[in-house]
Amino acid sequence: MTGNPAMDALLEDLVAPKDQVCIASGRVIRDSNYFFCKACKHPMIIAESKGLVSCPLCHTALPPPGDKARQPLPTPGAKR
Ligand SMILES: [Zn+2]
Repeated sequence: MTGNPAMDALLEDLVAPKDQVCIASGRVIRDSNYFFCKACKHPMIIAESKGLVSCPLCHTALPPPGDKARQPLPTPGAKR
């Protein structure tokens, strides 16, 4: 923590594990509103994936919005 909120957010992003970075936006995933591409297994934030028909990383077709496969996963132990 640096006391500078913008710097803190940047540092947090830099130290975040790669499997917690949204492949649609590059933002760190901080809650359970994400799903995994079933082909490359990378996560993306549901809100950021709106309008996408294919995975930004591997270009595999995504399930349609509202599909069960495109819903938030229940994350055990997640802070709510
Ligand atoms: Zn993919």
